Amino acid sequence: MPDNTGLAAHGIFGGTFDPVHLGHLRLAEEAAESLGLECVRWIPAGQPALRESPRASAEQRLEMVRLAIAGNPRFALDTAEAESAQPSYTVPTLERLRRPEHYGMRRPLVLLVGADAFTNMVAWHRWESLFDLAHVAVAHRPGFPVDVAGLPPPLAAVCRERHCASPAALKEAPAGRVFTFAMTPLAVSSTQIRQLLCHGLSPRYLLPEAVIAYIQNTSFYTPS
Ligand code: ATP
Repeated sequence: MPDNTGLAAHGIFGGTFDPVHLGHLRLAEEAAESLGLECVRWIPAGQPALRESPRASAEQRLEMVRLAIAGNPRFALDTAEAESAQPSYTVPTLERLRRPEHYGMRRPLVLLVGADAFTNMVAWHRWESLFDLAHVAVAHRPGFPVDVAGLPPPLAAVCRERHCASPAALKEAPAGRVFTFAMTPLAVSSTQIRQLLCHGLSPRYLLPEAVIAYIQNTSFYTPS
């Protein structure tokens, strides 16, 4: 492993963000504080690889994340995946970030995921390579218990081998460990917000006001 002495850990937070909501924002904020991350890099997916096309375009989802994270000095927006015409895959994204012109190989990178996304990780393209590129921090999410016994067997094995009990361990190597953390439980999802909007109901207090104002000036979540 390369020497990573003195380099602060950065968080990598990918998602569809269709739309971004307070569950995403609290996950990133609480991860930054409890894991001691210098920065959280938000990476909206272009065309997500494993799900149907988002309702909002990549450009609209980028704009919503831009509005949501504005003013938070620890948050940064990575537009590359959303601006690419290719499907978004996590391992190639991390390989891009590990190139010398970005982070290189020494800095600890922590991929932030909710418990639902973590359980599905075995379906990701080249998922086992992920641990050569980043740590994984798994946030608790209501309705998705973090239970190693309930994970797909290959992922359970990785978890047993790589799990660390303290976030301090994430700073001791650039990649390779799994950490789970509790965050304020928020049973909000983008699906729920899309459904509210589709039925003409208010999504207020589930996502930032600036994002609601942006959505209200468009029609991408209303029935055509
Ligand atoms: P959808 O309902 O469209 O599936 P979502 O609300 O799960 O969307 P994504 O953009 O798919 O949002 O999620 C990005 C990341 O944020 C994933 O790792 C997901 O697990 C995590 N996440 C989303 N909402 C929450 C939440 N309320 N609590 C914890 N993690 C969350």
